[in-house]
Amino acid sequence: MQLILMGAPGAGKGTQAAELVKKFGIPQISTGDMFRAAVKEGTELGKKAAECMKSGALVPDEVTIGIVKERLSKEDCAKGFILDGFPRTVEQADALEKILSELGKSLTQVLNIHVPEEDLVERAVGRRICKNCGSTYHVKFNPSKIENICDNCGGELYQRADDNAETMKNRLSVYEKSTRPLIEYYKKAGKYTEIDGRQPIDKVTEDLVKVLSSV
Ligand code: ADP
Ligand code: AMP
Repeated sequence: MQLILMGAPGAGKGTQAAELVKKFGIPQISTGDMFRAAVKEGTELGKKAAECMKSGALVPDEVTIGIVKERLSKEDCAKGFILDGFPRTVEQADALEKILSELGKSLTQVLNIHVPEEDLVERAVGRRICKNCGSTYHVKFNPSKIENICDNCGGELYQRADDNAETMKNRLSVYEKSTRPLIEYYKKAGKYTEIDGRQPIDKVTEDLVKVLSSV
């Protein structure tokens, strides 16, 4: 099952991808997570990505496409994968088609989690992530049982540097300009479903699973 989870920043892609990983046993491929890991490790890739991420701009297509191509050819993707945060431009979507065809695969479904813009800043600013296992929380909508401590592993929670109102403004305008056109792109290609992302987390998961059980 080759899936794309689409949606604006803060729509709930990472949260839902984690649920789908548990249900379907295929890996989540998050370009944002890959870039954050590279920045932390101080690799060449991290150096290339850091400035763009800080301002909320996109990392150049050739860099992003390169890391996805490498990742999708790994053994654990053989039975499928969940792309989270990729593609974000038409050029990336075209490149994905090429990568999939080289691997002898095709897209199963594109799931777009729709959340109105007015909710997205609050979601991002309140987001907290475990330093240790990457679990995602929200101070208001999905708080950890003990403040700043991960329910899952006891790790410390942190706030992403780009999860502030100022950077979110830029990330949302980048989304409108570069990523929103992908909705039409995938609608035209078929296999596109929109999910109401304003519902509670478990209800969104339920809707996603419902769609996936019929494809
Ligand atoms: P994305 O990966 O699309 O940027 P996340 O999955 O990290 O988004 O979610 C952004 C924030 O919103 C997180 O703090 C998460 O806990 C919270 N969140 C996710 N889904 C919902 C939901 N259905 N209702 C309310 N808050 C949510
Ligand atoms: P995310 O974790 O998906 O919110 O992504 C965080 C940041 O990583 C983005 O604001 C971009 O700077 C960068 N990034 C993640 N995915 C991509 C992508 N597909 N193309 C370009 N930049 C990306």
